[in-house]
Parts: sequence; structure tokens; C-alpha cells
Amino acid sequence: MGKDIEYQFETKAIHAGYEPKNHQDSLTSPIYQTSTFTFSTLEQGAKRFAGDEDGYIYSRLSNPTVSGLEERLAQLEEGEAALAFGSGMAAVSAALIGLTKANDHILCSRGIYGCTFGLLQMMKDKYHIDHHFSDLASEEEILQGIQANTKIIYIETPINPTMKVIDLAQIVRVAKRKEIMVIVDNTFSTPYLQKPITLGCDLVIHSATKYIGGHGDVVAGILVGQQKVITNLKKTVQKDVGGIISPFDAWLLLRGIKTLAVRMDRHCENAKKLVTKLKSHPKIRAVYYPGDKDHPDYEIMKKQMKKGGALLSFEIEGTYEDAAKVVNKLKLIPIAVSLGDAETLIQHPASMTHAVIPEDVRQEMGISNELLRLSVGLEAWEDLWEDLKQALD
Ligand SMILES: *Cc1c(COP(=O)(O)O)cnc(C)c1O
Repeated sequence: MGKDIEYQFETKAIHAGYEPKNHQDSLTSPIYQTSTFTFSTLEQGAKRFAGDEDGYIYSRLSNPTVSGLEERLAQLEEGEAALAFGSGMAAVSAALIGLTKANDHILCSRGIYGCTFGLLQMMKDKYHIDHHFSDLASEEEILQGIQANTKIIYIETPINPTMKVIDLAQIVRVAKRKEIMVIVDNTFSTPYLQKPITLGCDLVIHSATKYIGGHGDVVAGILVGQQKVITNLKKTVQKDVGGIISPFDAWLLLRGIKTLAVRMDRHCENAKKLVTKLKSHPKIRAVYYPGDKDHPDYEIMKKQMKKGGALLSFEIEGTYEDAAKVVNKLKLIPIAVSLGDAETLIQHPASMTHAVIPEDVRQEMGISNELLRLSVGLEAWEDLWEDLKQALD
């Protein structure tokens, strides 16, 4: 990759962070499947430990395959540096534990990922790191949620499974005045659709298990942010808690990322087609998709996202039993949680991803018993619609 040239996203997704000449001219990244690295002399080892000489020491600290992945993600998110982990939750927990201390407070968007919800509860119970949830829909609401000890505003947008969108620029305006760090879980959008760092957010998190990997064959996580924040997390929570990614999984991600842009275009196109069809079906009560002009947050989506993404939910006219009947009648679309795979996946939030939330709270969040969530894959959309249609009919 030529230095000093500002390449476009699609090009960086394929080349960034990798130079064949540094790896025996291998076209694709080798998998450095090694736990440790050798030093020529004791003095060299000492210099590497002291940070006076670049070079690898031990794979929990750094590994060349993993470093290539981190460099590529940093460039795609337009951040200074990145850090890869063995799961999305390892990345979430490293960020939240690494950047807070006892008696701090985290302000959180409502409807975050279930395990992040669990982690926050554990941090509160065991370490006195408190949190509150807010819709964060207006400046007043954001200010209301902020306390004197608030260190982090933690956001997921779009929100699963209601597909509400949070205005990131508005959050950043308020947070900057109060010197609060803004962290965004960008799993649903990927850097192809949304780049929170360019809007002023401080740290981006990915469950790379989803669209970054894109093929449903790896569990991994990524953090992207300023060099000093990433270095701090690398030398503390990553090194001492140790939730690292394996070289092979990093390699799978490097492979998956190459096609991120083309996949996302197709994912989004398929989702739009299905939304149009679903909206006109008599058995559907409502469809939630941020890329739909009728979605209440459509204008915010347009402002900060390239396209509406490929996650959507819809409510069946009827009861829980009717929703179950539709899901069980599907012939092509597998029933599974997770998202961002080539395969379209359907799940029932009330009995699966959001089952731990008490029913009244769930209803308040907009998650009814008739709500189904679809992660739209890369199949021919006509085949997907045929499958949904026969199940609905
Ligand atoms: C899946 C997911 C996570 C957790 O990632 P894992 O890779 O499963 O650990 C976090 N946030 C969001 C939005 C997710 O979809």
C-alpha cells in the first residue's frame, strides 16, 4: 500500500495494515501461530521489555497477525489505534473496567446488549461503579442523566431490537463540555456505515463476531480510539486480564474484512427490499427499520449513517403463538441469535435475547411478544421474501 496516499474505504479494507514484503512476500497475511518470540541476546530481550526496541515478546502482549488486524480496523474507523480481543464482551469489559474506578458513574443508552447490561450490574454490585439508563433523545435528557461522577456515556445505536437511533453529534456536544468520554458500540453499523470517531466520539467497540468477520465462524472483539487510551488499555486490562484474540481468529477477520463494503451494500439493499414487502403484508402490524422514511429517527440516521443497515424488526398481527407459528414455518431462514452473517437469521427477542428482562420493562422498551428480529443476509432477496411470505400466509 503506497504511503502518503489517502485510499478509500474499500481499498483500505483489503490492504491496510499489511505489507507483503515484510512477510516473505506472502500475498495474504501469514498466521503467526506462536505463543512466544525469541531474542538474539539477553540485551535485546531487556530492550524489548523496556520498550526501547520494537519487536515481539509474547503473544498475549502482541502478535504480528493480530497487529495487522488492529492496524486495519484503526484505519477503517479513522481512529489512531485499535486493540483486538477474544470476544466482543472481552472488548466491552476491557473498556468499561479499564476506564473507570470505584464510585464512578456510567450513563447508558437504553436497550443495550444483554451481556453489557449484565456486566454493568456486576460492576455496580462488586466495584461500586454505578450506571443509569436514558433515552438520550434531547440535550435536556442527556444533561439530566449526567452526574458529578459520570465518566462515560455508553451508547449503542441503532438500538436492538427497536431500531431507535441516537444522535451522536448531540451527545458529543454535551459530553465535551463536561469532559465525559463517549463510547459507542458500533457493531450494528460497522465503520462502512457509521464512523463515530469522526463525529467526536472517543472509543468505538465492535463485536467483530458480527459483520466484521461476516461469516459466522469466529467470536472476537475490537476497540478503536486514541493512541494513548489504547496503549493504556493494552498495558493494563488486556495484558493483565488477558482476553486476547488467537492469531487464527485474527486471520479470519482479516479475510472477512476484505469484503466488508460489498457485503454491507448487499445486506442493506436486501433489507430495504424486505422492508417494502413486509410493510405491505396484512399480517404485519409494524416494521422497524432506520432506513425506512417512515421511521421516526430517519433524519438522524441520514445525518450519521451511510445507509440504514440490515437489521430490522417487525410485529406480527396476533399473539405470541402466532409469532411462534411464523418462525416455526420458515424453511430457509434459520432461527438463531447473532447477526451480520451471510445467512439471514431470525430470532424472537422476548423469549431469547431479551428474555431476562421483566415483561413490563420489556413492553416499555417496545419489545412485545409478537416482535421478531431479522438479520438480513446475502441471499437473493426474492428467496427470503418467498420464505417469509409462505410463513406469514
Ligand atoms: C454480539 C454483541 C456483543 C457481544 O459480542 P460477542 O462477540 O458475542 O462477545 C456486544 N454488542 C453488540 C451490539 C452485539 O451485537
